This record gives sequence, C-alpha cells and structure tokens, in this order.
Amino acid sequence: MVWDLAPLVESTGPASVQKKLTSMVDEAKRMRNKYHGKIEGLDTKGLRELLETKDAFYLTFEGVMMYCGLMYAADATFDEAKQLNDASRRASMKVGQALAFIDIEMGKLLIDIPSIIEDPMLSEYRHYLERLLRSVPHQLSETEERVIIVKDKNGVSAWQLLQSDWLSTRTFNIEIAGKMKTLSYGKIIGLYQSQDRDLRRQAYQVVYKELGIDKVLWASAIRAVCADHLQMCVLRKYPTAMTQSLISNDVDQQTIASLMKTIEGHVGLYQRYLRIKARLMGVTKLANYDVVAPIPQTSEKEYTWMEARKEVVDAYLGFNKQLGGWVDEMFEKRRIDGEIRRGKRSGAFCSSWLAGKSAYILQSFNEKIGDVYTQIHELGHAVHAYLGSRAQKPSNYEVGSCIAECGSIFGELLLTERLLSKADTVEEKQAILANVLDQFGMAAFQVSARVFFEQSLYDAIEKGVFLDGEAISEMWMAARDKIYGETVDWLDVMKWEWTMKSHYYMANYRFYNYPYVFAQLFVFALYKLYQEQGTAFVPKLKILLAAGSSKSPRDLGVELGFDITSEVFWEKGMKQAEEFINTLEETL
Ligand SMILES: [Zn+2]
Repeated sequence: MVWDLAPLVESTGPASVQKKLTSMVDEAKRMRNKYHGKIEGLDTKGLRELLETKDAFYLTFEGVMMYCGLMYAADATFDEAKQLNDASRRASMKVGQALAFIDIEMGKLLIDIPSIIEDPMLSEYRHYLERLLRSVPHQLSETEERVIIVKDKNGVSAWQLLQSDWLSTRTFNIEIAGKMKTLSYGKIIGLYQSQDRDLRRQAYQVVYKELGIDKVLWASAIRAVCADHLQMCVLRKYPTAMTQSLISNDVDQQTIASLMKTIEGHVGLYQRYLRIKARLMGVTKLANYDVVAPIPQTSEKEYTWMEARKEVVDAYLGFNKQLGGWVDEMFEKRRIDGEIRRGKRSGAFCSSWLAGKSAYILQSFNEKIGDVYTQIHELGHAVHAYLGSRAQKPSNYEVGSCIAECGSIFGELLLTERLLSKADTVEEKQAILANVLDQFGMAAFQVSARVFFEQSLYDAIEKGVFLDGEAISEMWMAARDKIYGETVDWLDVMKWEWTMKSHYYMANYRFYNYPYVFAQLFVFALYKLYQEQGTAFVPKLKILLAAGSSKSPRDLGVELGFDITSEVFWEKGMKQAEEFINTLEETL
C-alpha cells in the first residue's frame, strides 16, 4: 500500500536529488542563452528543434520534480521531504522565469508568419501552435503582464484568500446526540453525508446561517472579482466573459451552447430521479439536505486492499486486456500510495509520469466502497497517462479540463457495471444506482445551475445592476430553481449557498464549472456508445485517450464519428442516464 518513488530518480540520496535540480536550472539558463531574442528569426527547422528541445527538457527533469512533490504529498512532516519540496519549488520558479520568453516570442513569430503552422515538418506540433496562436491576440505587453501579476497578488487575488481564511478559521456549534459540539468547517460538512436526516438538516442550517451573516463581505468580494474580470476582458479584447475560458479549455461557443441547451431540456429527467430517490428515502419530497446524501439502503461492506485491487483490475479486464494489464501493473510496481498516515495530503490525485509511460496515485484507503470508486477514478487517469505518454510528446499532453476527466469517469462506470452484475440483493442494486445517479446529477445538473448563475452575474453588472447580497441570492435561487423546479424543499438559509463556492472568488478563473458538465455528459454518451457497439468501441476510447491535447475535443469527435457541436450527441449521454433511472425504478 506504500508507493515506490525510486524509479523517478537515478539515485534517492538527497544530495544527488539536489544536484539534479541544480542541473535543471542550469539547463534552462543554457536554453535561454541560446534562444532569447532569437525565436522570431527561426525557420521551420529551427522552430521544430526548439520545440523538441523543450520536450526533451521536460522528460529529463520530470522525474526529479515528481519525486520531490510526491514525497512531500505522502508525508509533509518528513524533514527530508520538506527540504526537497522547497528546493524543487525554488528550482521550478527559476526555470519558469528563465523560459517565460519562449511562448511570448513564439507567439510573435506565429503572428508574423501564421502559415508556418501548416508546414509538414511541424505536423506533430500543429495543434499546440494553433492553441498558442489563438491566445496570442489577448496577451498584453511583457511589462503590462508583469504589472498585472504584481498588482493582482495583493489585489483581486486576495479575495480568495479572505474567503478561504474565513472558512478555515470559523467554528460552528451543533448538537450531536444531545451534546453541544464546536466543529471546524471541514468537520461539520462531513455531517452532510450522515445517515441521520435531522443531523444533516441541522448541519446545513448552522453553516449557511453563519455564512449569511457576512453577506456584505461576500457581495463585495463577488462584485470586485466579476467587475475585474469584465474590465480585463475589455483590455485583453475578449468578446464575451466566457471567451478566455473557451480558449483555455480548447472548446468553442457552439459546443458549450449545445451542451447547456441539452441540460436545460432534460431537467425533467433529473427531477424524475429525485422523486424516485425521495421514495427510496421514505419521504414525500426531498429536502436540500437529502439531495446528495446516501440512501438508507447503502451497504456498509468493507473492502481490503487486495479485494479492491481485484475489483478494479477485473472491471478493466472486462473492458480490455491491455488496459486491465496496466491497471494491475500499477499495483504490481507499487505506483499507488494507499496507506493512511499523519502528514499525508487529504483527498486523492493521479500524477502522469510521461517519461516512465506510467503514473503515480495517492489516496487514503479506508476500505469503504467510496474508496474503491476513488481508486478506479484515479486509475482511469493512469490509463489515460499510459495511452497518452506512448503516443504523444509532452507538448501534446496538456489535456484541458473537458477531456481530462474522461478516462476517470469512464473507469467509474466500468466499476458500476461490475458491481451491478454481482449485486445479490435489491437494496445493493439500489445503492449502486443511486450513487452513480447522485454523482451524475451533481456534475451535470447542479453544476449547470452554477454556470447559469455566473452568466447572470455578468449580465447584471453590464446592465448596471448593483449587486448586494440579497440581489445575488435572488439570482442564485433563480438558477437553482431552473434545475430543481418544485422537486426539492430548500431551507431558507440555502439562499446563501453561493457564498461558500471558493471558485467564485478566484481571480482569472472564470467559468470554471462547465468542463465538469461537459466531462460527465461526454462520458455518459461514450458509455452509451460502448453499450451499443460492444468491443468495436474499445479502440475508439483508446484513440481518444491517446490523443492527449494533440487535437481539440471537437476534432477528436469528428474522427471518432460524432459531432459534439450538436445536441444529438449530448442527448446520448442523457439516454444513458435514463437507462440507469429506468433500472432503478424497476427495483421499486
Ligand atoms: Zn479526476
């Protein structure tokens, strides 16, 4: 259950690791000396050489950077890890400063000679250069960019810090089993998943009442962050508030419009599930504190590490032998850290290791079914890395958020399929289906409400509406009701729900939400195709995951025979959800 990081470096001695970091910084300086001020004069061959040098640099030093970062994530209390992590962050900052000129100069070259992108000698880098060219017209001068970074740090970026400091320093009083308890935010939100309905209600009530008291603060923050974004859009010549996010996610307006229209057109489907869930919970109508809570039929079954390994490997083997083999290799070569220990980062993640054509996974394995799902989710990312690293150069492996979750969510569905086929009782089946539909409902529908809400904020500011706390709450509830209609009763204090979503306070991070909607519905659509096409679908998924960021999601779809700009494609995802809902309804 403990990972082996040694393959990432030639030697694990701290002095040798430090030496490698020093040589990374030296190498970056050499690249700077060679290319600084000269990129605009490069011919095609020279440009290709530069891109290859950059990729080779990445592959040479990826391992040592991962080694330091992962060791620290596994145990932040370990002195050697702390020192190496610090050293690697300093080294990486120096590399960033030394090489920042490359994109700027390359952008100028592309503006001068856009046709260079079409040159067959650069075919492997074509989409990488196209993406760079798409972003160049919105860059400001180097001086202006530097001023913005400095001013944002203590300006608009400070709102996020304020909000997270508020959440992490407040305490909440709540009565549990007859005793008053004082809990941190992190602890009290754990009660949202309690099987005790009244405790869940209390937890939401206490948290959101407290948040609402500071509405003046939250409204000031939201106004400042949104107005700053709209002003930056003018300076950077973005035609809409969403353009910047579309460019960075490598998608277009039409695709996202079709996606969101499909969501709006299917709120009835989600509401149908919520009514079924109310019956499973034995209530006449769901309250907001039931929407993502587990149903009472959820089993307490525990999985040992070896049992989990068997479930996830077999789930993948059922789909494809090669992928199943890689998943097994992740265990065999000790690429997963599952042990629970003090000082370990909470949550779970998967780091692609391109040079090793593999990946590393961190999780805290608690033997619950949720941990098995987390494991297969992260292993789905690993499978993505196995395929991508074999097919792509590092420049083509900056996978945008819309595609990044494809392997992982698909993996979860493979586990669902396996667990459903093995379920002995109706209750087990109900719990598995409710779990998958809860996740789907959250990512596809609840998150969509946040997209509608964010858009309405910009619309209001542009119309000159003054956004105080109550006005923002009205907009939040309107977006929420568009999704939930009359199917859920909301506590009054839930009108303050927007105040705790940290991404609304993050500068330069607008429209963070729709990629989650995209990924969820995209994978459900793919899974539906898999149901229809069987093994003929397997190579298509492999092509998709192996493509990395070498093509846009839209072009990838065309290659695989579907059109993500049309609602017809997205409806396939809804069809899959409907099938799960039908199966669940049949158990009643
Ligand atoms: Zn993920």
